[in-house]
Amino acid sequence: AHEAALAARSKDNLRSPICCILGHVDTGKTKLLDKIRQTNVQEGEAGGITQQIGATYFPLDALKQKTAVVNKDESFEFKVPGLLIIDTPGHESFSNLRSRGSSLCNIAILVVDIMHGLEPQTLESMKLLRDRKTPFIVALNKIDRLYGWKKIDNNGFQESLAMQNKGVQNEFKDRLERTKLAFAEQGFNAELYYENKNMAKYVSLVPTSAHTGEGVPDMLKLICKLTQERMTGSLMYLSEVEATVLEVKVIEGLGTTIDVVLSNGILREGDRIVLCGLNGAITTNIRALLTPAPLRELRLKSQYVHNKEVKAALGVKIAANELEGAIAGSRLMVVGPEDDEEELEDEVMADLQNLLGKVSKDNRGVSVQASTLGSLEALLEFLKQSKIPVANISIGPVYKRDVMMAGTMLEKAKQFAVMLCFDVKVDKEAVAYAEEQGIKIFTADIIYHLFDDFTKHMAQLREQKKEESKLEAVFPCVLNPLQVFNKKDPIVIGLDVIDGTLRPLTPIAVVKNNPVTNVKEIISLGRVTSIEREHKAIPLCKRGQPSVAVKIEGPNQPLYGRQIEEKDTLYSLISRKSIDTLKEFYRDDVSKEEWNLIKKLKPLFDIP
Ligand code: GDP
Repeated sequence: AHEAALAARSKDNLRSPICCILGHVDTGKTKLLDKIRQTNVQEGEAGGITQQIGATYFPLDALKQKTAVVNKDESFEFKVPGLLIIDTPGHESFSNLRSRGSSLCNIAILVVDIMHGLEPQTLESMKLLRDRKTPFIVALNKIDRLYGWKKIDNNGFQESLAMQNKGVQNEFKDRLERTKLAFAEQGFNAELYYENKNMAKYVSLVPTSAHTGEGVPDMLKLICKLTQERMTGSLMYLSEVEATVLEVKVIEGLGTTIDVVLSNGILREGDRIVLCGLNGAITTNIRALLTPAPLRELRLKSQYVHNKEVKAALGVKIAANELEGAIAGSRLMVVGPEDDEEELEDEVMADLQNLLGKVSKDNRGVSVQASTLGSLEALLEFLKQSKIPVANISIGPVYKRDVMMAGTMLEKAKQFAVMLCFDVKVDKEAVAYAEEQGIKIFTADIIYHLFDDFTKHMAQLREQKKEESKLEAVFPCVLNPLQVFNKKDPIVIGLDVIDGTLRPLTPIAVVKNNPVTNVKEIISLGRVTSIEREHKAIPLCKRGQPSVAVKIEGPNQPLYGRQIEEKDTLYSLISRKSIDTLKEFYRDDVSKEEWNLIKKLKPLFDIP
């Protein structure tokens, strides 16, 4: 089988495509992977399917066997030598498989639960796929849950569907149409795969069941077809090494190791490699290239096999010194005889530098922390589109020093004293410090949720500020005095509201020309502390409503009969600041008539 694969590779010089599985939680990604891996062939090990580090490799023979039910006449000709499927489904693996901003994942399976349609993480995955221009197919999973579905294990979908009664077929059609519509709403044209005449324009939908295995052969064949037809260019076998760190793990007896997906070229024991680290570039020599021991050899002492060299595409564990601080999502480069080590170091670090370049120039913004380079990049892109400014970024668990960085915002812009943490642990000491300082830490496994948390946080702060600014917000009104009951401390006066609305706490003024100096004077009377009608307190009085008795209190009240007279019209005392406060926090509470009244009152108070 291995020879056949190699032969196929040399024939067309294509390498195996790398495939990722994405989708919302519980759509069946893991189950689908299990189903694909499952060996249902009597003899041997299912055509040499091999478990690798973080990935499973399906050589040509395995693909042929697994797609036989939908390729009975063998009219479909395989050109790829095999398929490498990444074992950890989800965003992180996908966004970490990257190099110079482009994706190393050649094709993706987006899993959608046919009973649920598009869910938040589905949309997020679609965005990632679109941003990275990665071709994908959609597995419309859980078809066995259509009411009354009669299964035939591991069958081709079309044949299984034909066997169902009308009711099931109609429900399927109905859900299919709804799914297509939902995709259209997201700007994707989608079509049932065997009705799709244009794979470049339409996304193919493959109905599957991870439980019965139905549709899985269709799915595998479609992946091969799509890669062969659409991407032979990117699948050309190259000798130049192209590799990414998927995970950084401490393994007993080996120390810190990196799990790497090699998408092109060859890695050899002893190779000098360069990768991106938290504290600068890491340059070291490969001590061991490890792949998992085959199942039947598990009784052996080590769970790993040592390899002298490995060829793309595959997943491999690398043991080496100085790997502490290695960043998942980093590119891995090999220092060749002609290469300048420092140049390569600059190149791998450029990925992190690029992200650092994306933080806000004026240093006002939230702090962002993610588990890997890839997820950080995805998060930053999302925040950019959501117009949330970012001031600090970091990778890995959140420690006190990270929270301290976020804390510098407390003085500059309190609303940004916030950490948005994606898929990372937060140290206890960091939590305690954040609480003490009033810095918010939001953590989530879904980028979307971080956005929601932050939006809620902003709304809360706003509410708080609105409450704090209550005294600054002056709603406009014009009052016609009827009778003064008490001239001073407090002023009590009967009046009609002739324009606007009178509310408690409104500051009141009289505006008149000083008869001696002939200069306009604004005389403050204080604030309204109660509004009563027929001896009962009321919350407000609108223009045209029956007269009210109003109490006005404040320091240095003018005396009726001296500075002011009983007949003087009373106004709400507005100012530039009161107008700005209304605009900022009470825009929705101020009616059109009230804005007009404010406009009318502005000249009176000399507000430009
Ligand atoms: P993941 O979170 O996307 O990896 O989803 P899992 O593979 O863990 O599946 C989530 C749940 O859905 C589990 O209870 C599975 O047994 C169930 N499930 C997955 N695929 C199917 C399917 O095709 N049919 C049915 N009926 N259940 C499924």
